[in-house]
Amino acid sequence: MAKHQFQTEVGQLLHLMTHSLYSNKEIFIRELVSNGSDAIDKLNYLRLTDEKLKDNFASWKGEINISFDEKDKSLTIMDNGIGMNEEDMINSIGTIAKSGTKSFVEALTGDAKKDSNLIGQFGVGFYSVFMVASKVDVISKKAGEEKAYKWSSDGSGEFDLAPCTKESAGTVIYIKLKDEEVSEFAIKYRIKSIVEKYSNHIAYPIFLNYEEEVTLELSEEDKKAGKEATKTVEKRHEQINAATALWTQSKSKLKDEDYNNFYKTISQDSNDPMLTIHTKTEGVNEYTTLFYIPQNAPFDMYRADYQSGIKLYVKRVFITDDDKELLPTYLRFVRGIIDSEDLPLNVSREILQENRILANIKQSSVKKILSEIKKLSKDEEKYEKFISQYIRALKEGVYQDYTNKESILELLRYKSTNDEVKMTSLEDYKNRASSEQKAIYYIIGENEKVLRNSPLLESYKKNNIEVLILDDKEIDEIITPAIGAFKEWEFKDITTSEAPKVEINEEEKKEQDEKYQDLLVKIKEKLQNEVKEVKLTNRLDSFASCITKDSQDAQMAAMAHMFRQMGQ
Ligand code: ADP
Ligand code: MG
Repeated sequence: MAKHQFQTEVGQLLHLMTHSLYSNKEIFIRELVSNGSDAIDKLNYLRLTDEKLKDNFASWKGEINISFDEKDKSLTIMDNGIGMNEEDMINSIGTIAKSGTKSFVEALTGDAKKDSNLIGQFGVGFYSVFMVASKVDVISKKAGEEKAYKWSSDGSGEFDLAPCTKESAGTVIYIKLKDEEVSEFAIKYRIKSIVEKYSNHIAYPIFLNYEEEVTLELSEEDKKAGKEATKTVEKRHEQINAATALWTQSKSKLKDEDYNNFYKTISQDSNDPMLTIHTKTEGVNEYTTLFYIPQNAPFDMYRADYQSGIKLYVKRVFITDDDKELLPTYLRFVRGIIDSEDLPLNVSREILQENRILANIKQSSVKKILSEIKKLSKDEEKYEKFISQYIRALKEGVYQDYTNKESILELLRYKSTNDEVKMTSLEDYKNRASSEQKAIYYIIGENEKVLRNSPLLESYKKNNIEVLILDDKEIDEIITPAIGAFKEWEFKDITTSEAPKVEINEEEKKEQDEKYQDLLVKIKEKLQNEVKEVKLTNRLDSFASCITKDSQDAQMAAMAHMFRQMGQ
């Protein structure tokens, strides 16, 4: 038997789990069941595509079994999915390979109370079992391989790994419950209700196995003879979930709660979603999509190694959850499912990219999602929340998605000189402006306050021209010049464009130019190459000077840098 140390971060995480004050401990069942379901998904796909597995698993059917034993203080969750070999165990539940766990640990503050709230936000999967376990054994055999392995840990610094025997492929998670958790979780009704709550629509059956003491009915004769009733122990094996993929159900049958609980099983998020979009399409292409927009932007959204949130199914068979092309990158915050009736079942992940059916589904999905966001925008309060999380993504979309540029522009909201607090849509900006203006003016910088006090705004204020305040410099600087126009109104940066119409008296200008010629030369001499040119302006009133921009080169450089960072 070999002892292994957990990586430092896992150690930290486990420490928090075992000492956690987290109130929602029951979610460990949801996490383990969803891992079992993922493992069955994977085997289900492989047996259709991998020649080596085809015969052995021809009549295989995925299922999850849960059993409990109050006397033994244990709970066991089994699946007959893909299983793990030694290397898988070390990589998946021994180190910190997953970006989710890593971000979670990075977000830890050291304050136990705050940190246990984080568990809820991140959904850290397998390790959540240590909220209730004093010891865990994971016994697993990978499909198509000979050897089985047992991983054990009490949730402190290390885990043991040793060969063992197991007949069939799959994973058994044997959980020794902490004393105080036995009466919580080794209880039939509790397990049933937790599974029903979170895992009712996992696509595979979940069975609960337990022993129950029953009293045998006495016959009338025996009763008369005064015999004592005998008790026996019977084994039970009951299915405790509906086992119908939720997205195949009709909308009218599903309640918000059903949708929300299903979202939690697929999203690593313990909050309800902000928006749920369930669509069935029939006709040339037949497919179902179920999309969710999380309340909070996924933590890995701006990491190059972000994870796709979309699972692809073909006729209810899971194909992949690792294809970042299923939706455009700017919609990478969307979670959910695409299930196609028309793709071949043995479609390889590699050829998905060029598939016409899929391209079609993608296109209409984008349109659908954008139109639902538009509906959401009618509710000001809700939409404010959406914008606070996803405005950056929308801005990327303007840049990336030429076909839908107009509809995305309609969804954008900007800070503006019109209102100190409320953001504005471009449409509203246009409606407020005089019809001759024909341009949308903006200023970009890092700090809203500085921008609002910029001397450059003076002449615009004087002329009653509204200016958009763009203070997300990193992205605004790239995206905004590339927008071009919104409904024929050109976007104009007030630091590079001429100030709006101000009466100019040619005579007076000439006179002034001559008067200040020496001063301008002196300033330029002083500043040397810090500036390109020093000149008189009519844009200012109470300020003595301001700096304006000239070239777009710097913007191009910033753009290249940002897209590289996002791994594009
Ligand atoms: P996630 O499910 O988000 O990947 P988890 O912490 O729940 O994160 O699980 C980590 C990894 O451990 C999984 O990605 C998977 O590779 C492996 N794993 C966990 N449970 C099982 C299981 N029952 N069968 C096969 N692999 C599993
Ligand atoms: Mg998981």
